[in-house]
Amino acid sequence: MTDIPSFWSPRIGALQPYVPGEQPRIDGLVKLNTNENPYPPSPAVLDAIQAAAAHGLERYPDPESQALREAIAARHGLQPGQVFVGNGSDEVLAHAFFAFFQQAEPLLFPDVTYSFYRVYAQLYGIDCALQPVDAALRIDVEALAARAAQGCAGLVIANPNAPTGIGLPLADIERLLRACPTRVVLVDEAYVDFGGQSALAMIDRHPNLLVVQTLSKSRSLAGLRVGFACGQASLINALTRVKNSFNSYPLDRLAQAGAIAALQDEAWFAQTRDAVVDTREGLVLQLEDFGFEVLPSQANFVFARHPAHDAAALAAALRERAVLVRHFRQPRIADYLRISIGTRAQCGQLVDALAAILG
Ligand code: PMP
Repeated sequence: MTDIPSFWSPRIGALQPYVPGEQPRIDGLVKLNTNENPYPPSPAVLDAIQAAAAHGLERYPDPESQALREAIAARHGLQPGQVFVGNGSDEVLAHAFFAFFQQAEPLLFPDVTYSFYRVYAQLYGIDCALQPVDAALRIDVEALAARAAQGCAGLVIANPNAPTGIGLPLADIERLLRACPTRVVLVDEAYVDFGGQSALAMIDRHPNLLVVQTLSKSRSLAGLRVGFACGQASLINALTRVKNSFNSYPLDRLAQAGAIAALQDEAWFAQTRDAVVDTREGLVLQLEDFGFEVLPSQANFVFARHPAHDAAALAAALRERAVLVRHFRQPRIADYLRISIGTRAQCGQLVDALAAILG
């Protein structure tokens, strides 16, 4: 189909939309390219979804997802009024950009981070100032704090960062919150359960802190699309105003029921998370044996480069052997591969494929 730009609103042609990792339509590929959990969700999730599907689909769902917000609040020691939910954390992030970052000054975030932040900023016409990470791809907290103190629309930090997997200690988050007291500091904790430190406990002390999490990774629910934000009630109220000006029912009945069940199965959560973390530690050693330099990861993926092999060529060679990993054709990180942690068997297949390729 040919695009017909004359029908488009003027800004649409200039957008550079986010490109998600490949979701293959062929079976049998080892899928280590989009940071999903390799394990299925708790069986209680499927029971809850079936029960929800058995009655009530002719009615709209609860627009405020009250029971889910209560379950999230109970899990994290918060009030339901301090919790906002959305259709995946991507939607929550989009609403947060709209609600907080349309200001006179530029929005600050590291130059190497989740690439969707730039896309939201462009969508809403928000100016960005990118703070370079250092040569080891670490966030330079002092430089970021100094820049924030000069005035900014807000600050966005993924912790652990994506796609590096490197986490910041809470003392650094505190430093950034203090550098930017009149603007929102958004901490995107999509991967925090795999070894990072969560800032959720700091919400009561910091009115400018918004913590965003997802059930896509550590709760194995990427297919259900549930994310949430936690912060003081005034921030949550702003997000709710945006939501109710966009889509009153972002979470359907099945998603609300399944998410509650996932949050209530702590044993499943702990077991699958521990398996991912254990597998990661083993894979790091094997990658280092092949000569890869692997960044220290607190996430469910590793970011690695090989001094003697081109990353794009390696990704292509792995794909020929039915293993999908992610390569970003972007400045500063084009030498790296991002490898999601699969089951032990899947990581074994990756290692076998690398052995064949690297000789
Ligand atoms: N934040 C980060 C840093 C991510 O990597 C992702 C996953 N692509 C998301 C947010 C969005 O996750 P979801 O929409 O599945 O909750």
